[in-house]
Amino acid sequence: MHPAHRGYQDLDEYQENLGRHGLPYVVITAVAFAISLVGAEDPKLPLFFAGWAVGIACLGLAWLRPKFWIVAPFGALAGAILIRAGSDGLDSGIGPLLLIPVLAIAVYGSRWALTAMVLTVVVAVLCVHFATDDTAISVSSVWRQDVVMIILATVLAIAIQDLVTRMRRERNLAEERGLMIERLSDVTRRIATSVNGGDTLCQVAIEETPASGAALFSFDLNGNRGLIAARGGVTEMLDDLAQSPVLRNEGQIERRFGAGDPEMVEINAAFAEVAPDLVICRSVTSEKREVGTLLLAYSDASPDSGIPLELLAAEASIAIRHHQVTEQLEHLATTDPLTSIDNRRGWERMIQRALGQARRHGQPLCLAMLDLDHFKEFNDAYGHQAGDDFLREAASSWEEMIRIDDHIARYGGEEFVLTLPNTDLEGARKIVDRLRAALPDYDGDPDKTTCSAGIASWNGSETVRELVARADQALYLAKEGGRNKTVVSPDGT
Ligand code: GH3
Ligand code: MG
Ligand code: MG
Repeated sequence: MHPAHRGYQDLDEYQENLGRHGLPYVVITAVAFAISLVGAEDPKLPLFFAGWAVGIACLGLAWLRPKFWIVAPFGALAGAILIRAGSDGLDSGIGPLLLIPVLAIAVYGSRWALTAMVLTVVVAVLCVHFATDDTAISVSSVWRQDVVMIILATVLAIAIQDLVTRMRRERNLAEERGLMIERLSDVTRRIATSVNGGDTLCQVAIEETPASGAALFSFDLNGNRGLIAARGGVTEMLDDLAQSPVLRNEGQIERRFGAGDPEMVEINAAFAEVAPDLVICRSVTSEKREVGTLLLAYSDASPDSGIPLELLAAEASIAIRHHQVTEQLEHLATTDPLTSIDNRRGWERMIQRALGQARRHGQPLCLAMLDLDHFKEFNDAYGHQAGDDFLREAASSWEEMIRIDDHIARYGGEEFVLTLPNTDLEGARKIVDRLRAALPDYDGDPDKTTCSAGIASWNGSETVRELVARADQALYLAKEGGRNKTVVSPDGT
């Protein structure tokens, strides 16, 4: 394929390119055609002008039809043979003119076209030699001249073609690399600037590689693998897959699963949308440490085009780092530094989810506010350090006592908020009384520190704010009523 007719959008662009590259050949050929008549002893003008006609016709065809560019050098060859015959025949001295179309093909044509051109030259020269009955000239010297010329043309043409091919390949490679760098920097920018880098990475994976499904896993603070983001997969199934041995690469960077592999049963369920016939499980590493896993699912596609997997995995490590930093920040922002349980911000995030779940499943939900009694006096008597220790111990023993779905947070100061999903008022009161009874003993405290509580049950329609207000009101009543007691908000249900 010649660059002159590959990839050009329109004829103008092709003609401009052909003019630029082909002009030197056309000029040399035309000059050689013209001077071949100078001093010719017995010119045969019909042949001479037929040579011009063939040359110009072929050039014209190539000019108008990009597909036929190759007839130009072949036309020049045919023209040269006719011109040679039309001027002084074998003795005209323009034999080297045959080199020009050969070189043109060497630079712009394929190896196949070059072979065809050399064979055509050989056949044409042989025909002319056998057809010429010119005993006046030294036939043997012309034979020698033509043989040397053909060998020279072939050797030169092969060398030039190799050189041109190599240059073209290197240029294409450089262009491809340039494009790849551009794409990668775009990907890096997208991941770095997105709110959810993992999500963007999965999106990039299905846009920039032949994969139709992608999932990114990383390790949490406890070293457990968890799903960060996915495309084309079933989230719950991928969550299950995170715990499965299927994703353990056991020191291998990459594992591939195809139809028939036992691992595909689990993977297929997780990527039901994609129905993959190939899945690549790639370790994501950062500073030689495994930080996560990238799972790519392909259906009817070879994984070898698009962004190379090792580069995608490098981008994935950035996305994972991004995710971990965000998680750490979120953890810091939602954790109370004194007691290590959730703070008010953490509780706010949780309560919205809990309320949504209660609404969806039509389940009860109770909220309790717990406030230590006369804690100011405790501080005044034993100092703030002791007060801090008391708060820390109370929080940790309460957290140990509650069920996995319950939630306790430090609402502020010496006030705690307890959320009890799927629990009615009766059950909530029992739990709260148990917590109140479990407050730590402080050695020097003659009257054991107590706490008061107010409970409200979500009425099915009120907002979090309204629910908290009712629990607060109940707590106020508990304080009013002498402290160290639990009061239930009357208009709970
Ligand atoms: P009441 O029974 O009415 O709740 O009396 P109280 O003294 O507990 O309530 P008040 O709101 O008057 O005072 C709360 C006290 O809790 C004041 C403050 O010294 C103490 N407190 C709040 N946060 C902390 C804390 O982080 N560390 C310590 N040591 N004390 C705290
Ligand atoms: Mg108090
Ligand atoms: Mg208080």
